[in-house]
Amino acid sequence: MKSRQPVAITTLARYDLQRPDCERAMGSLWEYLDKELTPTMWRTNGAHITACERCHPRMSFDRALLRAVRASDQSTRAPARLRAFLETKREGRA
Ligand SMILES: [Zn+2]
Repeated sequence: MKSRQPVAITTLARYDLQRPDCERAMGSLWEYLDKELTPTMWRTNGAHITACERCHPRMSFDRALLRAVRASDQSTRAPARLRAFLETKREGRA
């Protein structure tokens, strides 16, 4: 009888991003959402994100988050921890 090794969640997450197209698309997701990519990169990443079952949900979540932040009262600054978290995500370090 074989023993089964548990697979760490972090291992699965790393595996997901080992696909070159996913890595590229998710590595510049916030630039994509902010339309800060070149037109060619924006189209290439957009085509991937629209079709990819891994990247599309993440893009939808981050887009909703971005819209919520932008729609919030601009005169109220986000707490320092939230701003730091968003900055980390924006730089692709999360
Ligand atoms: Zn993908």
